[in-house]
Amino acid sequence: MSLNPCSRRQSCRLCGESELTLAFSLTPTPPANAFVPEEQLGEDQPVFPLDLFFCEGCKHLQLLDVVDPEILFRDYVYVSGTSVSFVKHFEDYANYCIDRFKPEPGALVVDIGSNDGTLLRFFEASNYRVLGIDPAKKIAAEATKNGIETWADFFDLALGERILKEHGAAAIVTANNVFAHADDLAGIADGVSALLGENGVFVFEVSYGLDVYEQTLFDTIYHEHLAYHTVLPLIGFFKSRGMELFSVEHVGSHGGSIRCMVQPEDGANAPDGSVEAATARERELGLDSAETWIAYAEKIEVLKGDLNSLLANIKSDGKTIAGFGAPAKATTLMYHFGIGPEIIDFIADDSPLKQNLYSPGLHIPVVAGEEIYTRKPDYVIILAWNFAEPIMKAHAAFKEQGGKFIVPLPHLEIH
Ligand SMILES: [Zn+2]
Repeated sequence: MSLNPCSRRQSCRLCGESELTLAFSLTPTPPANAFVPEEQLGEDQPVFPLDLFFCEGCKHLQLLDVVDPEILFRDYVYVSGTSVSFVKHFEDYANYCIDRFKPEPGALVVDIGSNDGTLLRFFEASNYRVLGIDPAKKIAAEATKNGIETWADFFDLALGERILKEHGAAAIVTANNVFAHADDLAGIADGVSALLGENGVFVFEVSYGLDVYEQTLFDTIYHEHLAYHTVLPLIGFFKSRGMELFSVEHVGSHGGSIRCMVQPEDGANAPDGSVEAATARERELGLDSAETWIAYAEKIEVLKGDLNSLLANIKSDGKTIAGFGAPAKATTLMYHFGIGPEIIDFIADDSPLKQNLYSPGLHIPVVAGEEIYTRKPDYVIILAWNFAEPIMKAHAAFKEQGGKFIVPLPHLEIH
């Protein structure tokens, strides 16, 4: 671990303003994906703040505490090509870019945060030249080996200029989720600006602050996600980097994302009204005011209180509880709602990726999904609550054996 695993920036990530209002604080956690094997249970896992700050200048909601990306991303295990729905999403994504912007055959497409190259593979199949950038060394090496050239690096101005020199200007640059994950967004934007050709377009998808607000997705707040983007602050941000946000589209992946399309100033694409429509909706909801986010946090506290009384009643009746689903966001949910080893005995998960590991900090064992049939807890609380329907459907037998499911959000429900 490096000397300074976490540092707090003093100004807004988008506009540089230093007038920042603390909107709300969630309970500090270790990195949300830091599941540990048994032999590391004795090692201390430090927790870092999850304080949400609202910029009074550009209205951007963000974490200022930045955990060293080397800690968060270098050993990243998530591989996008493993999930059927993500592969389909990326296929549609590539087709969307090709149909809408019609880059010349043979033109260069660069994907920032390219993971295993799933998105680029679809561009390559349509005869574009492709290059991936991803800081996760193992994944980058694997992607290159599988035919998608991938540089294991963090994207910035210097890297954008290096790509330009070695491969020429890009017709399309894509970035998915990167724009929430990186601290130096100005560096990324400047690198993209240097790399894009005259009629080039930068297309990125990022989880949408409006969905975090409307769907109570507060558990998607963790250290990897530094920025909770809405459209309004992004307009001025790109303008300040010599670019124009000319179109946005609300898309459904990750429980609510927005696809943003950006071009050099005086680019070929006329604005289509979608940016104005999105900002009007954001203003209607009050997302341009710190008070709205303060009220949001109060609503979360009410939900927490309801869940805590339910869990306390179940425990005082001598019943047992397990968790279901071990996504990164479960870490925020468990810490902020106080669901520790004194409440749940184990977490069941159908994906083998995290089985036999222990949850970050709280060290609750993650086991195979079937264990809810052998260990027979009285209740299972669904931590991956955005997948509550498919989980309850896949494990209908748990109810048949007399068990009950608890869905904690967006409203507390028992099934
Ligand atoms: Zn700002």
